[in-house]
Amino acid sequence: MATKSKKKASARKKGGAAKSRPVKSRKKSSTAKRANAAGTDPKRVASILARLDEAYPNATCELKHENPFQLLISTILSAQCTDVRVNQVAETLYKKYPDAKAFAYATPGELEMEIRPTGFFRNKTKSVMGASKAILEKFGGQVPRTMEEILTLPGVARKTGNVVLGTAYGIASGVVVDTHVLRLSNRLDLTREEDPKKVEQDLMKIIPQEKWIQFSHQIIWHGRRVCHARKPKCIECNLESLCYAKDKTV
Ligand code: SF4
Repeated sequence: MATKSKKKASARKKGGAAKSRPVKSRKKSSTAKRANAAGTDPKRVASILARLDEAYPNATCELKHENPFQLLISTILSAQCTDVRVNQVAETLYKKYPDAKAFAYATPGELEMEIRPTGFFRNKTKSVMGASKAILEKFGGQVPRTMEEILTLPGVARKTGNVVLGTAYGIASGVVVDTHVLRLSNRLDLTREEDPKKVEQDLMKIIPQEKWIQFSHQIIWHGRRVCHARKPKCIECNLESLCYAKDKTV
């Protein structure tokens, strides 16, 4: 019969040299834990930012738009939908509905048919019509320039607010946290949160504000091109030597 210490040694052997995150102090509170994910050492974060700059110097929003209003509408439509599909819909949509007034006073059934390919078209129609009305009635026809104001628009949460403020106006109010930013921030151990609001708070603590807009674009590009959800292409990834994600493929 094996002794306890022999059993432990055998278990360690079976586990092999599995990649794992650096061990943290067990005594830390959950708040401290959130703020101090092991990957948030400033030098490491700076290296990640530098490598993203190398890989994606020109990363930008992939939703086609000609003005802040179109970007707002396209971002609302992009929920649970690809940018490619939204761009296809947008080509005819903005010819038929060129401004906030056209959307605000649209016939809901007709607008629903235009938006339908993006999914959740009934709710999205309500959101784009409601946001357009609010822009006309409360903001003089202009998409507002502050997070506080933009969040009052129907269908607009922080993700959409950050996309529009950052891309259309160059205002860094926060970090866009979409599905890619959520996944990659965890893989890169920049956060250990799953809730987008908490992930954003973590990222805002460790990334310099002047990088917030570009970081969001770059991480989204990396998620789309290399660090896919199911099979990340780690062999092609210039962050590989800094990454100790459990689901790395190299
Ligand atoms: S090494 Fe792999 S898991 Fe890590 S960031 Fe690169 S692609 Fe993603």
